[in-house]
Amino acid sequence: MNDLAELARRVCAFRDARDWRQFHSLRSLIVSLNLEAAELLELTQWQTDEAIEALPASDAGRVALADEMADVLMYLLLLAEVSGISLGEATLAKLAKNELKYPVARCRGRSEKYTLYREDAEASAAPTTGAPET
Ligand SMILES: [Mg+2]
Repeated sequence: MNDLAELARRVCAFRDARDWRQFHSLRSLIVSLNLEAAELLELTQWQTDEAIEALPASDAGRVALADEMADVLMYLLLLAEVSGISLGEATLAKLAKNELKYPVARCRGRSEKYTLYREDAEASAAPTTGAPET
């Protein structure tokens, strides 16, 4: 069951069976989403990079990771439902923006922020006068 719409229906059914919609203001959902993201982050607290990379390989680590990832997704699905925003459409629209922001020709294999790519492009596009700088 990986269809986003079906997942959203299940999460909303869980919420509605408990009459929790009344508590799900946009602010409450945004706060909750971030708290769950912090729980995901907490899995890395005081851990070495090697221990973090090994999380999915152990039963306990994999369950902890999966649980927090699911919590984040559930709040994101609830946020989408309450705000009336289609996660699928929003993701495709943002992906199109990112494709413009991070052109493959300029950023393949690079991890810098897009503003640096833009500065590189502007510097290489700047007209040169041939006069030495003073
Ligand atoms: Mg959690």
